[in-house]
Amino acid sequence: MNGYYNGPSTSSAPAQPVGGLPGGIDVPLGQTNQPRLLVRNLNNTETNFHLSGVELAYANSLRRVMMADVPTIAIDQVLFLQNTTPIPDEMLAHRLGLVPLISKGVAKGLRYTRDCECDEGCYYCMVTLKLKVSFRGADGEKFMRVTSDMLEISPSPGGPPPPNPYGPPPDLTDDDRQIINNRDSELGVPVGKGQPGVPPILLAKMGQGQEIDLVCKAYKGIAKHHAKWSPLSTVAFEYDLYNKLRHTTHWFETDERAEWPLSSNAVFETPPDPSEPFDYNAVPSTFYYTAESVNSIPVRSVVEQGLDLLIENLAGVILAVQKETGVDEDEEDGGENGDVGVVEPDFSGVDGYGAPGGYGAPGGVGSFGANGGQWGAGNGMSPLRR
Ligand SMILES: [Zn+2]
Repeated sequence: MNGYYNGPSTSSAPAQPVGGLPGGIDVPLGQTNQPRLLVRNLNNTETNFHLSGVELAYANSLRRVMMADVPTIAIDQVLFLQNTTPIPDEMLAHRLGLVPLISKGVAKGLRYTRDCECDEGCYYCMVTLKLKVSFRGADGEKFMRVTSDMLEISPSPGGPPPPNPYGPPPDLTDDDRQIINNRDSELGVPVGKGQPGVPPILLAKMGQGQEIDLVCKAYKGIAKHHAKWSPLSTVAFEYDLYNKLRHTTHWFETDERAEWPLSSNAVFETPPDPSEPFDYNAVPSTFYYTAESVNSIPVRSVVEQGLDLLIENLAGVILAVQKETGVDEDEEDGGENGDVGVVEPDFSGVDGYGAPGGYGAPGGVGSFGANGGQWGAGNGMSPLRR
């Protein structure tokens, strides 16, 4: 990753040396103020990575933006035509909203409904799903399970006209064409539908003679508005595993170390030397992330979109400040010197993304199970903190 900021740092404590530890990974830190990304584990649903050379506020912003600003689609409105099961309409609608739907390419392949000119949802801002099931009590069964696999995509109104080789090209705007071109063929399909080994999500249980008939409208949204739009089930980071910075205080009864076991990431840091005085100027420099996707979007895409969104948001702040103050910092002192000021980010060289698994994780490190319940160990951060 190239640096997006090349100016002098106000908190210029040197990066903590973490390389060359026995049993650990030799993490290249690069120059101070040059962000470095080390991907330790990456597949479609999970990733562990280290981010170095950034400040705590940036690290936390990245976590928040991945969790709450990356768009997905989720069922937002349900029209009940029939529901004779004991489960109330509201409860069933709520359960439907929480079903993860495949949202690959939704950032460019679907419009926010607020930006669309239609009245009640159309092909360009909505995916329609139908659920129509009834149970006659065949085979001696007493009830039937209604699951997310029974949701069927149906065409939304206002879709693109079929191609006509003999007539003029269809009358579409550039924005419409972009959405058609970026539309994923699986957009809106419930995650895991038809995949062997992936159990479907139970929506309701149905007795003999009962039926459900409903139409769902799935819209694009972000988790700032409702958690059902979050692409991640888990995203957290920790830092300063030995609590050298004393950002937190460990309450304990008799033995602090026994009651606050170290995180599995502690192997990447140097243990504290009790004879060293406390360093008041030290700042955290390496952050250990864990992200787990609900599979609506591959987790790699969530991280990439999160980084892009962060830059977009920061650019928005810069523009707002410039508008308010009338001062353009780039023009003022960075016009001739390319080393000063904000420069265009370049993610083409993000290390590690191209070669997941290139770094071998030592035994026991990176296990989600092992991390469970240990977030309080030396970092003072709750994974739920926002
Ligand atoms: Zn629309």
